Amino acid sequence: MQDKLWNPGSQLLPWKPFSNGKQYGLLHLPTSTIIQVEKSIFESFEPMEPSGVPRTIPLEVASFLQRAHEALGPGTPLTKEPINIVSIALNVEESCNLRCTYCYAGDGNYGHDSTMHSDLAIKAVESLSKGKKRFHIAFFGGEPLLNFPLIKEVVAWCEQNKETSYTFGMTTNATLLNSTQLKFLKDHAISIKISYDGDKAQAKQRLLMDKKQNAAALVKKKMIKFKDELEELNMSIRATISKNAVHDFADSIEGILSDFSAKLSYSKVASSDISQSIDEQDVELLGDALSKTVHSLIEKKDFKKLLRITNIAASLRIIHRGYVNRMTCGAGIGYMSVSTKGEYFLCHRFTESAEEKIGDVRSGLDLKKLEQFQDYRSGNHAPCNTCWMQKYCRGGCFQENKLKHGSWFEPSVIFCRLQEIELSLALEAYLAINAEDPKLLESL
Ligand code: SF4
Ligand code: SF4
Repeated sequence: MQDKLWNPGSQLLPWKPFSNGKQYGLLHLPTSTIIQVEKSIFESFEPMEPSGVPRTIPLEVASFLQRAHEALGPGTPLTKEPINIVSIALNVEESCNLRCTYCYAGDGNYGHDSTMHSDLAIKAVESLSKGKKRFHIAFFGGEPLLNFPLIKEVVAWCEQNKETSYTFGMTTNATLLNSTQLKFLKDHAISIKISYDGDKAQAKQRLLMDKKQNAAALVKKKMIKFKDELEELNMSIRATISKNAVHDFADSIEGILSDFSAKLSYSKVASSDISQSIDEQDVELLGDALSKTVHSLIEKKDFKKLLRITNIAASLRIIHRGYVNRMTCGAGIGYMSVSTKGEYFLCHRFTESAEEKIGDVRSGLDLKKLEQFQDYRSGNHAPCNTCWMQKYCRGGCFQENKLKHGSWFEPSVIFCRLQEIELSLALEAYLAINAEDPKLLESL
């Protein structure tokens, strides 16, 4: 019995022990179920005595764990998700009025300035959403506000097509935002995500077209001017952190959370430019900053603010709802991007990258090419098959994997490490919220 349950060094145990220093828990990995336990049971999972001698697990603890494991069951095996694209990033404009230093689209234009035509956009939406009950369109770029007339035409077309229920979003740098556009977004329930990195990081990373002056004041001015309208629209903020701004990450999260009431998601830069890209050391610094913020919010019991950090809230939702067999993303399975020329790509970060082209509006999706991504997400391959996060991840980010190893199918340790930090912090937060305000978990 002990061999099955206790195998120091292996990640194949059915339990992941965790604690926030006050409460103790075990995550049952096959079913994603949390059980709260006594400190002594948690401590049984410490692999070594302080002297370095392997610890032996008490028989009654082993017996308790075995019974709990049997009661919870083996969980479901990895499933093969059908290819069913229900969400797209529609690149309405491949040019931008800013010149952010980390932009994966070069100068925001993917190597060439181009604008999507509405007939092509509608053709792509029509063919990809045909026969589907729901379909999500994220207006994307470059800067999508540079082609607002097309957005209006696409929305009008979708609203008269009653076969499918369409939802809309837009990611924008907000510098061109005006009250007429905001009214349109509100009238048509288009959610808005504003790219804003926090004051210091923004000033370093987001440049105007002269590549010298920064866009920080410009963006913040718009967010302050339209604060009420943006709150009504349930705006979210997206912060991107490059190597140059790693030390500003804590300021970014804390500043944005206190200046605005919006939800905040953050993303690390993954670029072939090593002067921008986050490496193994940087990810530890990001993790330290994130841990400091999350621990401080737990300490203050400010869980509402904590849950505005989308990366942590999303992990908490998965854990609380007991979701298993999740994927990092739906790229190539449920999600993809469409370029201004009507070509299809694996996801927004791969737009205009020939190797990740997966079809076009004329010939449709290249299902043969997509099968390899589908197979990878359902495969029980190393190193994921010995990773405690497999049931929430299934292989990481194709773009980060390729950048690190030249292969979509070899996980990037940098991705894995940040995910481990986020999930571990979410587990710690789970115990605290469950003890103080469990109803909050139900709202996730
Ligand atoms: S990609 Fe990394 S974090 Fe995800 S399951 Fe594989 S090893 Fe684990
Ligand atoms: S492959 Fe990576 S960048 Fe593309 S959608 Fe998935 S997680 Fe995001």
